[in-house]
Amino acid sequence: MTERETEARVVVAGAVYDDGLLLAARRSAPPELAGRWELPGGKAEPGESVEDALVRELREELGIVAEPVARVPGSWPLGRGYELRVWTARVVSGKARPLQDHDALRWVTAAEAVADVDWLDADRPAVLAALDAL
Ligand code: C5P
Repeated sequence: MTERETEARVVVAGAVYDDGLLLAARRSAPPELAGRWELPGGKAEPGESVEDALVRELREELGIVAEPVARVPGSWPLGRGYELRVWTARVVSGKARPLQDHDALRWVTAAEAVADVDWLDADRPAVLAALDAL
């Protein structure tokens, strides 16, 4: 882990893919974000590596064991000093289901991800970058 990663306020998210489809998760909270879609993830805890944070968040939110595959180049500002960083990730075991923070999941094609999903503002460019990397 680099010094920069321990200092940054990082939100990690996974571009989880399986069989050519990307996983989108619909937020159930807070009210201003509820109903819109994101790449599942959350805040890294102090001292936690960003990859460990991603694996933990995907386990807590979706009940899957996932493996980060590659960092998607770039980062996207979220406000309040946070930035979004994304990894492509594959499912090692389990079947994703919305356990926490989400009320629906959807596996989408690249075309659907671009045209058909109401992503959170920061997630839309992150998804486009992730699709380039997949
Ligand atoms: O999931 P969690 O609430 O920990 O995420 C912290 C904040 O990061 C959210 O309130 C949301 O604004 C932002 N976020 C995002 N895109 C994601 C994950 C989180 O914009 N894929």
